[in-house]
Amino acid sequence: MTGFVFNEKPIQIEEGDGAYLYDDSGTEYLDMGASYACVPLGHRHDAVDAAAKAQIDKLTYVQASYPNSARTELYETLAESAPDPIGKVWLCNSGTEANEAALKFARSATGNSKIIAAMQSFHGRTMGSLAATWKSKYKKPYEPLAGDFEFVPYDDPEAMAEAVDDETAAVIVEPVQGEGGINPASAEYLEAAREATEEAGAALIFDEVQTGMGRTGSLWACEQTGVVPDMITSAKGLANGFPMGATLCRDWIAEEYGSHASTFSGGPVVSAAANATVQTIVEEDVPAHAESVGNYLQERLEAELGDDVREVRGEGLMVGVEVKRGAMRYLKQLAMSHQILALPAGRTVVRLLPPLTVTQDQADEVVEALVEVIG
Ligand SMILES: *Cc1c(COP(=O)(O)O)cnc(C)c1O
Repeated sequence: MTGFVFNEKPIQIEEGDGAYLYDDSGTEYLDMGASYACVPLGHRHDAVDAAAKAQIDKLTYVQASYPNSARTELYETLAESAPDPIGKVWLCNSGTEANEAALKFARSATGNSKIIAAMQSFHGRTMGSLAATWKSKYKKPYEPLAGDFEFVPYDDPEAMAEAVDDETAAVIVEPVQGEGGINPASAEYLEAAREATEEAGAALIFDEVQTGMGRTGSLWACEQTGVVPDMITSAKGLANGFPMGATLCRDWIAEEYGSHASTFSGGPVVSAAANATVQTIVEEDVPAHAESVGNYLQERLEAELGDDVREVRGEGLMVGVEVKRGAMRYLKQLAMSHQILALPAGRTVVRLLPPLTVTQDQADEVVEALVEVIG
């Protein structure tokens, strides 16, 4: 094997179509992880791929300081999609970059440095986002990381209110923790974070890299609570498989963003793909479908698995099944005996993040396979 391979799995994937992936011998797999939530509209989506192909025939890349219609349209689509008064957009290539930008913007807009993050959080693997990430296994070999980060218990409104003070630049939080084990936050927690940051003049950042793009039942998870942060970060499913990240900001942040930049900020091809992705999700009301199939999936999992598991939890099509022993062997059995690809979240959670277009029949298939494997 050449190159830099990490934990490569023994299935060689060569084709995709909707919720399915195909290996080199033609075996079909149901992709219940949407390849880490990166294809909310499924693999090889017509409108997204056509937009990217048409853009390749016009212009692959031009630096971000020249206006370009593909990029401008994406700015407009994202600004329109975000809850008011969030209206400014900064584009990049990944989730960690989107968070890195948000942390820098918060420091430059507030003049403060302290960042508050939650225990069990995951915000990415570059030095700044990594400093906001909880797990020491991800951090230890690379220390020292960026400084002045503090962790508070997740979903604890009082601890949050206590931690935020006049020296705080930002609070960064996932509305539903993904890597940390699929942990939804209560509305009170997000409200407490909003209140405390507003009072202190600090920025509230919602990391919606995994929760965004309709996965939890609304385009952005925060819409369901009515709490509007100062920044929303996005990536993963934003361009349905093309690499793109975004940091959406209120004006007061954008006005004092400093001198942050990136050469590949909003290339025309990925911008065209992202624009088609967001427009399709909004126009076809994909979040409503995600909510109804997600609720169905969770209810059936609860009913069928019952006492065989610790808990079934989640929002929409972001679902975690906390099992009593290690999750890895169940994931292997799902892949090898049932041709279903799912994801872990920590050691004990089987994580389901299917394409948002997944059908009730496909949800049934997963429930039956999990019953056989775990039950
Ligand atoms: C995956 C993820 C990231 C990091 O995104 P990358 O594109 O891998 O850098 C950040 N935050 C959350 C919530 C994520 O799920």
